Amino acid sequence: MQVDVVRLQEMFGAIAQAMAREKERLCELDGVIGDADHGIAMELGFSAAAKAVAALDPATSDPTAVFNTAAKSFLSAVGASSGPLYATAFMRAGAAVKGKPSLTDGDMIDAFEAMAKGIQDRGKAEPGEKTMVDAWAPAAAAARSAQLEGKPLVACLEAALDAATKGAEATKDMIAAKGRSSRLGDRVIGHMDPGAASAVVLIDTIARSFDA
Ligand code: ADP
Ligand code: MG
Ligand code: MG
Repeated sequence: MQVDVVRLQEMFGAIAQAMAREKERLCELDGVIGDADHGIAMELGFSAAAKAVAALDPATSDPTAVFNTAAKSFLSAVGASSGPLYATAFMRAGAAVKGKPSLTDGDMIDAFEAMAKGIQDRGKAEPGEKTMVDAWAPAAAAARSAQLEGKPLVACLEAALDAATKGAEATKDMIAAKGRSSRLGDRVIGHMDPGAASAVVLIDTIARSFDA
C-alpha cells in the first residue's frame, strides 16, 4: 500500500472522531486515578490536529508536513501532560519519513515505531509504570515483528492493536510510577491507565483507516 497525504488527512479526521466518541469514557478513567481531563485533552488535541492537517494542500505537502502540522497543533491545543507526549510522537513520525512523497508499509511501520519511541524519550517512562507506554511499546514491537514476517500494513497494525489492548489491560495491575497518579500508591490498582486506554483507541482507528 502507498499512504499519501490525503490518506493521512483522512486518518487524522478519523482519530478526531474516535476521540470525540470516547471522550467521556477516557475522562471517567482519568477521574479515578487522575484529574478527569484526559478525554478532553485527547478530543481537543486531535480535533485541532485534524483541522490543521485538513487545511494542508496535498499537491504541495508531504507526509512529514502532515505529521509536523499535527504535532504543532496538538501541542498548542493541549495543556495536559499528554500534549508534549503526542507532539513529540508526531514530530518523530515526521522525521522518520522525511523526504518521502508517499509511504510504503515499511515507512508506516517506521513512523509508528518512531511515535512509540518519541513518547518514551519524552516522558522517560519504562514499561510497567502504568502509562501509555504500556500500550505503545508492545504495540510498536508487535507491528515491527509482523512487518519483518512480511505481513501487509493492516495485519501489522492489527498485531499492534492486539498488543496495545493487552498492554492497556495489564496496567490495571500496576502501581503508577509516572504522572499524577503516581501520588496515589496502591489505590490505583484495579484501574486501567487512561493514557493506555486512549492509545488503544488511537491504534484501533489507525488500523481501521487503512483497512480498505
Ligand atoms: P494530565 O495528567 O496532565 O492531566 P492527561 O490526563 O492528558 O494529562 O494524560 C494522562 C496520561 O498521560 C496518563 O494516563 C499516562 O498514560 C500519561 N503519562 C503521564 N505521564 C507520562 C510519562 N512521563 N510518560 C508517558 N506517559 C505519561
Ligand atoms: Mg488528566
Ligand atoms: Mg490535567
